[in-house]
This record gives sequence, C-alpha cells and structure tokens, in this order.
Amino acid sequence: MDKYCFSYNQIHQTISKTADKILATNFEPDYILAIGAGGFIPARILRTYLKKPIITISIAYYDGEQATTAPKKLQWLDCIDISGKKILLVDEVDDTRATLAYCIQEILTHQPAEIAVFVLHNKHKPKKGAYPTVIKHIFVGEELSDKWIHYPWDALDIDKHDGRYNE
Ligand code: 5GP
Repeated sequence: MDKYCFSYNQIHQTISKTADKILATNFEPDYILAIGAGGFIPARILRTYLKKPIITISIAYYDGEQATTAPKKLQWLDCIDISGKKILLVDEVDDTRATLAYCIQEILTHQPAEIAVFVLHNKHKPKKGAYPTVIKHIFVGEELSDKWIHYPWDALDIDKHDGRYNE
C-alpha cells in the first residue's frame, strides 16, 4: 500500500472516537477554529460532538499563480476577538507541521487563553515546524506512516474513491 484512501464514514468514526477523548479531558474550547480548506469538514463533524461554534481561517500555498513553500494567510480572524478564549485548532493532516506551526504562532498574537490542536491524521516523518510548549493538548485521530492520503472531499468520482479503500 503506497497511499491511504479514507471514506467519509471512516473519517466520521475517527472523529467520533477522538471527540470522546477530548470530552474526557478538562479542555473545553470556546471555539473550534478550522484551518481551510482541509480542516473544514473535520471541524463540522467535530462540532456534532463538541457542540461548540466553528470559526475559520484559510491558508494558501500560492501567491497569485506562484507556488510558495511557506503558508500564507488567505483569510484570517478579522471580525472575531479570540483574546481570552480557548481555541481548538482543527486541520485534516499534520504532514510537515509547517501550517500548524505557522497558524499557532499567528493565533498566539491574538492572545487566546489556550490553544489545543486536533488533527485527523498525523504522518510519522521529520517535521519542519514544532508545537510551542504552550500547547498542552494535541488530539490526533490516527497516526499514519508517511504516505499520501486521499480524502473523499477531493474526489471527482466519490463512488470510485469509495471502492478503493487502502489499496
Ligand atoms: P503541512 O506540511 O503544513 O503539515 O501540510 C500542509 C497541507 O498539505 C495540509 O494541510 C494538506 O492540505 C496538504 N497535505 C499534506 N499531506 C497531504 C496528504 O497526504 N493528502 C492530502 N490530500 N493533503 C495533504
């Protein structure tokens, strides 16, 4: 198997199990903060269990037509004050960790009370970014090896996608 392929059902099950772990801790977020676009659908499923409002930011890897290696803000926290609030930052995958590390540094400038992280999938590989020590809770749906992950929301043909789980 040189790649992973997850269905919506598998992802929902993973989030459900991880939500139970979040609910068992003393961390109760004020907001679920989804990193778009990959974090949007996981955040929405998580909301079903945590029952907290979702706010969003969007990150791009393109500067106009030009691909960039560093994440850039496409949309940010322009009309919400998160100072003193507990934030659960949500993304679909921790690959090099560059995106999460960048977002955390930038979000910290808004002085939230706390930031915790939820990632659906964490790839075991050397990371380019690190979690600052202020991050006390990191919730991971599944630990995976370093292979490409096909997500259902990227599928042009969802039936074909669902027919090739973990081939
Ligand atoms: P980072 O390297 O900053 O952790 O991940 C950057 C972004 O690359 C992720 O948010 C995700 O959108 C994309 N990405 C990284 N690895 C994968 C993968 O295996 N599958 C998909 N679909 N996207 C990925």
